Amino acid sequence: MTALPQGTILGYPRIGRRRELKKAVEAFWSGRSDLAALEQTAAELRATTRERLVALGLGRADSAIPESFSFYDQVLDAAVTVGAIPERFDDLRSADGSIGLPAYFTIARGEGDRAPLEMTKWFDSNYHYLVPEIGPETTFSLSSDRLVREVEEAVAAGFVTRPVIVGPVTLLALAKASDAAPEGFDPLSRLDDLVPVYVALLARLRAAGAEWVQLDEPALVSESLPASTQQLADAATRALDIIGGATDRPAILVAAPYASLGATFAVLAAAPIEGIAVDLVRGTVPDAAEGLEGKVLVGGAIDGHNIWRGDLSAAFEKLEALGRLGAASVSASTSTSLLHVPHDVTEESALDPRLVSWLAFADQKVEQVVALARGIAEGREAIRSELDAATAALSDRRSAPGVSDGTVRTRELGDADFARAPYAEREAAQQEALQLPALPLTTIGSFPQTGDIRRARARFTRGELPRDEYEAFLRSEIDAVIGLQEELGLDVLVHGEPERNDMVQYFAENLDGFAVTEHGWVQSYGSRATRPSILWGDVSRPAPITVDWSRYAQSKTDKHVKGMLTGPVTILAWSFVRDDQPLGETANQVALALRDEIGDLEDAGIAIIQVDEPALRELLPLKQGDQAAYLDWSVASFRLATGGAAVGTQVHTHLCYSEFGVVIDAIRALDADVTSIEAARSRMEVVADVAEVGFDHGIGPGVYDIHSPRVPAVDEIEALLRRAALEIPTRQLWVNPDCGLKTRGYDETTASLRNIVDATRRVREDV
Ligand code: GLN
Ligand code: ZN
Repeated sequence: MTALPQGTILGYPRIGRRRELKKAVEAFWSGRSDLAALEQTAAELRATTRERLVALGLGRADSAIPESFSFYDQVLDAAVTVGAIPERFDDLRSADGSIGLPAYFTIARGEGDRAPLEMTKWFDSNYHYLVPEIGPETTFSLSSDRLVREVEEAVAAGFVTRPVIVGPVTLLALAKASDAAPEGFDPLSRLDDLVPVYVALLARLRAAGAEWVQLDEPALVSESLPASTQQLADAATRALDIIGGATDRPAILVAAPYASLGATFAVLAAAPIEGIAVDLVRGTVPDAAEGLEGKVLVGGAIDGHNIWRGDLSAAFEKLEALGRLGAASVSASTSTSLLHVPHDVTEESALDPRLVSWLAFADQKVEQVVALARGIAEGREAIRSELDAATAALSDRRSAPGVSDGTVRTRELGDADFARAPYAEREAAQQEALQLPALPLTTIGSFPQTGDIRRARARFTRGELPRDEYEAFLRSEIDAVIGLQEELGLDVLVHGEPERNDMVQYFAENLDGFAVTEHGWVQSYGSRATRPSILWGDVSRPAPITVDWSRYAQSKTDKHVKGMLTGPVTILAWSFVRDDQPLGETANQVALALRDEIGDLEDAGIAIIQVDEPALRELLPLKQGDQAAYLDWSVASFRLATGGAAVGTQVHTHLCYSEFGVVIDAIRALDADVTSIEAARSRMEVVADVAEVGFDHGIGPGVYDIHSPRVPAVDEIEALLRRAALEIPTRQLWVNPDCGLKTRGYDETTASLRNIVDATRRVREDV
């Protein structure tokens, strides 16, 4: 068995430094290019990545370089490789049963009446994977040799890379039961049928020239999955006994990123595999384990999840400690795939060089790994200058102006700042002040971001459109959106958010303590990427942000216009956040800025203010033991942001993308007067959860799935509303879509809202 080198990474960004993959994939989807052109671009991206990683110091032919490309998603890659696709796509297979790239995209994106796989968040990151559907009818068989061909492609170019695939336990643990499966079916029950396909795949990879393979098994660290820790550990034992027991295979590295393995570490140590990759940033390892003598331990000491340069000496010490566990060898690595960080900070010519010196994007993290690897091989002294430089950058960061801002820190907080008057009092005052009908109709905030809006913003950003012309254009957009809502007959209007590029970046650009990157794209799902802002310093609000737009919109109508803010937890979740103080402290700084904004909105005559927290569920720690503390600070920050609102001001919040079960108590603790949630896709299932905990504030379960261009019919919406009204007293019920309308076009938006209004009128007749 060849040894694994002393430096490696668990995965590298796939989208390309200039989002080349996004452009190529979208050109293919729209018919502007063909399959051959797409394959060509993808092959070039893989070739560039390999060369780049060698230039940064990883070995060319020693399995240090992960073969971690994906056209869309690594979970879909694994599902397609083992043939685990839903029956409704079976006709897309080729005559020999294989699943080609066009079929792969159809499974990801759906087609006509064929729904795509569902999408959900990958562990505690902001990446979304496609949820496999598995049932008793699923037939597992090797259905794509793409990974094998990528290994061959690398070999032909003079590399020996390490193919990466989501492992069998994680694939099943993340899957949901297929439509055909009986009630209570557990996808993990199919493990024994799935594992032989991995055995066959590994033989093919070996034949193609792979000396190591990486099986990603992050499910093993999670306590947030339906399967228990014990079930997952048992599944890993069974699967690895068979896969590891096979003779014709590469050496196996099982990677378990995102948190500690806990007791499952011993399971991997005892398994017939050659390597274990552990997360030393979000996790720790037990002091001892049996069976490590013949294995390599890959220590994820460099944070794959954040963009800070960090404490390299501390990282090296973690690796030294790992070396004392008795493994055959230790390698330095990133804690997770570098999928979660942008390519290269040296591309950021507009960022303050001092800030840049504190940062490490993917390429810089590879260099850090390479330095640590040299330290392992040659001893600490050999990398003294790298360690010292990182330490100097850290202390420079600690003392830099803005990182600690006296005026932010001297704001004293007492318990009263986190609480509003009792709900009953607020409800009465708001009823009196707002005079809303039963089942009030509203939307979540954004209206379609049309090509015109995007073009105007781009021209304004490039300096081609003067500010006054741009703002006049935005005002005309607001006029139109207000006019449309009045014509449709909505009760609580919004201004439509035409001035916002993104609900977090917009606030980041208008608050002190943030920096915005130029090329810092990170894959969110499929061809979609986001550009998270960098929250590097103490946060404060130099001037009101949204007030002029809200005031303008309110001046155009006699109905109430909702002010629209993004909440502190979501601002943190969708930014790269400083790691030098507890998240709760940072969240409270953001909350104070929002609190001041709310005061200014009230002064401008805004009586209803929504503070969006769609990411509340997303940051929930994977370990149950950490969840209470998270919910404490996250809920507190929302309450601090909204706690200064007057009794008669109606505070709304909005949550989406989530299963609510786990966080329902937290949602209640937010104490918003009205909460709108995503519900249409689950046919109002969430309403039962809401009813069960006796939620007694206003609630708006979404009746329109805005993720699809489909216009819901009046009858369908009426049925959803009646279902909600069965479980929730109508005096609490609001009517709204699932989420903002920014990704939709005007035709379907107008038609859908019209149907929502008609359905609501029918139901109102009976309340
Ligand atoms: N107010 C935002 C919008 O409507 C909320 C978006 C979200 O929840 N993701 O676009
Ligand atoms: Zn939403």
